Amino acid sequence: MNLSQCELCPRRCGRRPGFCGAEDKLRIFRWGPHFGEEPPISGERGSGCIFFSRCTMKCLYCQNSPWSWKGGGKDYSVEELAAIMRKLAVEDKVGNWNLVSPTPYLPFIRESAAILKAEGIQLPFVWNSSGYERVETLEEYSDLCDTALFDLRYSRDETSVLASAAPNYVSAAREAVKWASKNAKVIVRILVLPGHAHEAVENLNWLAKEVSNEIAVSIMSQYTPAYGAISLPPFNRRVTEEEYESVVDAADNLGFENGWIQGFESSDSEMQLFGENMNAGYGVTK
Ligand code: SF4
Repeated sequence: MNLSQCELCPRRCGRRPGFCGAEDKLRIFRWGPHFGEEPPISGERGSGCIFFSRCTMKCLYCQNSPWSWKGGGKDYSVEELAAIMRKLAVEDKVGNWNLVSPTPYLPFIRESAAILKAEGIQLPFVWNSSGYERVETLEEYSDLCDTALFDLRYSRDETSVLASAAPNYVSAAREAVKWASKNAKVIVRILVLPGHAHEAVENLNWLAKEVSNEIAVSIMSQYTPAYGAISLPPFNRRVTEEEYESVVDAADNLGFENGWIQGFESSDSEMQLFGENMNAGYGVTK
């Protein structure tokens, strides 16, 4: 496959390898059924996660740096990816194919999906990413996005530059969420960052005003310092309970009723519904 002019993500490198480091071949770190996603994604039999190597962001606190920054994993052909997806669907009977950071590899994934479609094997796709996407790419690969599981991580570009080396993250991610709200099921993940809870609140305000407070949000407390964040305050600590609660309170005050919060204790990543009239549905449907 020739991706030498790659413009799949907002960086629009026009070359390969570009910023993300992905080459002209498919590279995967790990795959298997996963039960830690939001309840409708995990379902009864798990979500069929495929963790792709490399990433279009470079988050200094990344917990997946061995494969997202450093490219760990191994190369696969489209037939081999189809075999992984076949096993997940037919043997593991997962509820969906969950593509984790798939953007550099979309053309390959589509070819693998076509092989399976010809065999009559189809599952919904979850496009699971930082939200740092191009609307043109989402449009072109909308067949791989039945559910968008997108982050809204920052509301200020100075933070996205500092923490993820992504200068135009805010506009790109917000446009991606807007697109998803019209074209897919969508869950917006709000990862509360230490010292930056106000940005999570700003993003909730933006969501309520510019999209809808009916959209499903997943407010996450699980931030753990890792990699380059170990020595950079305030990213070198966990979020405080007060910071996390300020975001949950904002969601409540803005009328969000679909979504999940996490227990605050570090080991408690279980998700609970929030709000008074919550339901287990998620968001705006296509
Ligand atoms: S996917 Fe990678 S190579 Fe392509 S534009 Fe984005 S960062 Fe550059």
